[in-house]
Amino acid sequence: MRYSEMFLPTIRELPSDAEVVSHQLMLRAGMIRRLANGIYSYLPFGYRAIRKVEQIVREEMNKAGAQELFMPMVQPAELWQESGRWQLYGKELLRFKDRGEREFCLGPTHEEVITDIVRNEVKSYRHLPRNLYQIQMKFRDEVRPRFGVMRCREFAMKDAYSFDADYAGLDMSYQKMHKAYCNIFSRCGLEYRAVEADTGSIGGSSSHEFMVMAQTGESEVVYCPQCQYAANMEKAEIAKPQDVAPLNANKFLPMEEIYTPNVRTIEEVCNFLQVSAKDVVKTLIMVADGNPVAILIRGDEDVNEIKVKNYLQCAEIELADETTIMSVAGSPRGFVGAVGIKCRVIADYSLLGAGNVVMGANKEDYHSKNANPGRDYDVKEFADLRVMHDGDVCPRCGSLIRIVRGIEVGHIFKLGTKYSEKLRAVFLDAEGKERVMIMGCYGIGIGRTVASSIEQNHDESGIIWPMAIAPFDVIITTVNINDELSHSRSQQLYDELSAAGVDVLWDDRNERAGVKFNDADLLGIPLRITIGPKKISENIVEIKERKSGAVTEIGFSEICSKVLEVKRKLLG
Ligand SMILES: [Zn+2]
Repeated sequence: MRYSEMFLPTIRELPSDAEVVSHQLMLRAGMIRRLANGIYSYLPFGYRAIRKVEQIVREEMNKAGAQELFMPMVQPAELWQESGRWQLYGKELLRFKDRGEREFCLGPTHEEVITDIVRNEVKSYRHLPRNLYQIQMKFRDEVRPRFGVMRCREFAMKDAYSFDADYAGLDMSYQKMHKAYCNIFSRCGLEYRAVEADTGSIGGSSSHEFMVMAQTGESEVVYCPQCQYAANMEKAEIAKPQDVAPLNANKFLPMEEIYTPNVRTIEEVCNFLQVSAKDVVKTLIMVADGNPVAILIRGDEDVNEIKVKNYLQCAEIELADETTIMSVAGSPRGFVGAVGIKCRVIADYSLLGAGNVVMGANKEDYHSKNANPGRDYDVKEFADLRVMHDGDVCPRCGSLIRIVRGIEVGHIFKLGTKYSEKLRAVFLDAEGKERVMIMGCYGIGIGRTVASSIEQNHDESGIIWPMAIAPFDVIITTVNINDELSHSRSQQLYDELSAAGVDVLWDDRNERAGVKFNDADLLGIPLRITIGPKKISENIVEIKERKSGAVTEIGFSEICSKVLEVKRKLLG
């Protein structure tokens, strides 16, 4: 492609409405333009990267035995009513009526549609397993779309769905997808981790998120450098401490009630009573499916609500309001403790062995000192309920864990029978018995994969593409396009490289060299070949790797084979 002919509107200034690097650079490099809140067009340069990621995805999905199909984005309400999600999905589901007053939605995901297809066509165990996928647009009416294509409302997704006759089959389908995802993200040149994820309300036995490591990532990921354990923050397990000495009642000091006017937060309590946060017990009143519950945790730790939710096996959990707190504790927020509390009490493992603690006295403006379990309050349940942090150890091998930030680009899920049961996707087994199909689902955000690559690979001058997903492999920068020899040599090289299957962008614009070099850096094409008037008269060109900045001078006749060699090397 000749730059002079390409629709490639670059921007020099930093766009004011873009908060993250990928959003800024995708705008500046002429990859995307915003149409409406959370809705973007991909311009040719951006779309080339999208197509490259899609190609890798297709190759690896096909290799793993999945078959591509294409389902409609407009989906009838009836199917969603069958699965129960028409009621449950909330406002993220964009609903509308057609001219015949029939209700529809824009698909935020395709479990219902695929299950409908498979239940109508597959009747026998002989036709299982099946794994079907598509690359299709999704629409999710996010409350707060942001970060460009990273969190937008309309986006391209690869979604795959597996159907198996039994759970052993699902395990195999899942493993194949896990492997395919590793191949995909490795080939895209991304540094990523597959982490254990919370299965949440979807249930099922297993789920992994594929996270691209980036400082700007929205989620925190925990991993163990020793044994490869990795999980997202919600899921990161903290093992029950084994070395806790049992409480010795002989060491219990008399409990005192201390007047602590307006002293509410842990920090205020520590300052007022001159104690460490480790000696204070935080008491959180939460409401799980309508029932109040008290969560106790050490003052220097934080409660992980997802863990509480999973422990209680409830559908909804939230912090209690003042009225509820008053009814179970008899005091306002800030003075709540476990002594005399009128609800179920669950303590985090951080309180195992904790005695003579400070906690709210369940009386406005008072705290209790030297409160002790067994004597002053009851705790029968201990569980892992806290947020993991630096200094914690791996639940598998006990080594110190590390916490890094990441961007979720893929998610795989063992669904089980959640949809197949509701939609009656059944088949006859070898004995002629009717059974429900076992499902898995597997998603990859295509635009997000491109954006996260930019988050991971950029510098102050612009994007640094991994070769595999770069919109072009090579940019030929002709320093002075009016120089006859430069022009003819550039044309010759452009033709040769194109014929050899290299994606070339030829900067043949009549612009100053500085402008061209800046644009080349901004666009981040892995290899730049510079053809300058003086050097080319000596038959020499310069080749520069965008990533390392390494510059080599090379004879004109060798350049084509050199490019092919470097390209092969960069593709791994
Ligand atoms: Zn470990």
